[in-house]
Amino acid sequence: MTAPEMAPETVVDFSDHRGIWVYVQHRGGEAAPVAWQLLGIGREMAQQIGVPVAGVVLGHQVRHLCDQAISYGADTVYYIDDPVLERYRTQPYAHGMASLIRKHKPEVVLYGSTIHGRDVAGAVATLVRTGLAADATQLSIEEAGHLLHASRPDFGGKLMSTILCKRNRPQMATCRPGVFSVPEADSSRTGKVIKEKLGLKEGDVLTQVVEFIPESHHVDLSNAEIIVSGGRGLGGPKAFDMLFDLADAVGGVVGASRAAVMAGWIPYQHQVGQTGQTVRPRIYIACGISGAIQHLVGMQDSDVIIAINSDADAPILKTADYAIVGDMFEIVPALVRKLREMRLEGVVSPTVDDGMSADEEEQASA
Ligand SMILES: Cc1cc2nc3c(=O)[nH]c(=O)nc-3n(C[C@H](O)[C@H](O)[C@H](O)COP(=O)(O)OP(=O)(O)OC[C@H]3O[C@@H](n4cnc5c(N)ncnc54)[C@H](O)[C@@H]3O)c2cc1C
Repeated sequence: MTAPEMAPETVVDFSDHRGIWVYVQHRGGEAAPVAWQLLGIGREMAQQIGVPVAGVVLGHQVRHLCDQAISYGADTVYYIDDPVLERYRTQPYAHGMASLIRKHKPEVVLYGSTIHGRDVAGAVATLVRTGLAADATQLSIEEAGHLLHASRPDFGGKLMSTILCKRNRPQMATCRPGVFSVPEADSSRTGKVIKEKLGLKEGDVLTQVVEFIPESHHVDLSNAEIIVSGGRGLGGPKAFDMLFDLADAVGGVVGASRAAVMAGWIPYQHQVGQTGQTVRPRIYIACGISGAIQHLVGMQDSDVIIAINSDADAPILKTADYAIVGDMFEIVPALVRKLREMRLEGVVSPTVDDGMSADEEEQASA
């Protein structure tokens, strides 16, 4: 049997598409940090291929986000202000985004890989008939042809896949929060804000927001400076109390492995890893976590990793900057006691050191 012949690749002319766009996700006018992270990587790629980078802001009375987007690196911001966009709903947001894409023809559009970003990006991809690479953790762009390489862990983290969108424009990707750094904001930067119309009335929208109930349980892992995470080694939900004590003593928050979440010991919002959150705190303390690849991909970019494990061969100890081999049920309470004593003696503060000198702190508080 002869192998089927591959159809020759058709060369499509995309010269009318130009620029890299970042969707500025926000809630009630407060931007998600991933928007600025993506403006940072978007700007790097745009500079590499010599095209402009733009932010896209949809909402109602959120003009301040346009200025913020410029300060984080956007050359231009496309802005639709309409009461219909007051609260996020798939249909009007996807409609607004798709109409901007059709009119201004970007070559790349990036979204945060959040519930909101994934929702709108999927709908936009359908409307403008293009592909969407989901959950990218690495991005790069080819100088010739401006082909976006969106890479992500696959097959349970065993290999990396790189997704290309050769035959359609724009090339779109959702990208994991916390993977790219937030660039330094420069409030002196200037840029253009282009206002556009939504072209959709409230009566055209199929869904209505009846009531907004904020999450009762919220943990902000993606912005945490210190995370104390617990895994199956804890043996049950009660043992998380000592991790909350340690987190309290160091001014951090509590994370968890999937094994602990699946066992129902702690809510999913705490999960770190491939199917949880990607984090990059200054200090990550892993307690009773073995270090499976799916956990490591979510925390390996932390500045300092401290692992406490009773098994000297646990893989996490190889990734750790400080590996403590021993029983966490002895080590963690001892650490908490010591930190509390030091706090009483005024040696450590429960809040994270913000890097300011004593003089700077005095000036800031004056
Ligand atoms: C598609 C897919 C996606 C996944 N996504 C994620 C994800 O997002 N996040 C994630 O974490 N996992 C994820 N997993 C699961 C992952 O493969 C591991 O099963 C999981 O991370 C293991 O959790 P653990 O380290 O807590 O448990 P274990 O691997 O069971 O490790 C427990 C550790 O505790 C140590 N220990 C036991 N007692 C003590 C003690 N007294 N003191 C100190 N140490 C002790 C043990 O030595 C051991 O190393 C995913 C798996 C798949 C297939």
